[in-house]
Amino acid sequence: MQLTTLRDAFVAQIKAEGFKPRLPPPTIVMDNPPSYGNYEDGKNVLHIAVSSALTPEQQSRFSRMAARMGKGLAGEQEFEEGIHHWVFVHELGHWWQACGHKTGGTNHYAVEYGANRIAAAYWRLKEPAFMQRTEEKMTQLHATMPNPVPEGQVKEKYFDANYEQLGPTPGYI
Ligand SMILES: [Zn+2]
Repeated sequence: MQLTTLRDAFVAQIKAEGFKPRLPPPTIVMDNPPSYGNYEDGKNVLHIAVSSALTPEQQSRFSRMAARMGKGLAGEQEFEEGIHHWVFVHELGHWWQACGHKTGGTNHYAVEYGANRIAAAYWRLKEPAFMQRTEEKMTQLHATMPNPVPEGQVKEKYFDANYEQLGPTPGYI
């Protein structure tokens, strides 16, 4: 119900900006995709994870991240913010791109970056404190991760060429 409310608020904001979405709002399916969230273009389905169905490994990943951020958040809350706020609206961004025929093709970096920009714009408008926390979290996380881009290669081109292998890994992030 909470995700349906968020989806409808996202669509309402698009309409409030004067746009008419070509597609109906996506159907939400809570089936734990490997990447926690996924928008399926052809079917207009948004797949999203639920915390009750996480594996113990996934649960401890969220607990560890919560501990590392040191903001006193529990793993459960970390999941709520990371997946049901950030990833969910990122996937709604892919829905909005699909409304404008901007998905598909091999320009993966531009599509992913675009979905992040849509999610950031939405949260800056609706909940700036959450967006601020997300920014800090991503900056911290980014600093702890090795750079997968080989010396001398451009990150956008590397991402487009290796999109399938990068999958839901730190390399993607
Ligand atoms: Zn995406």
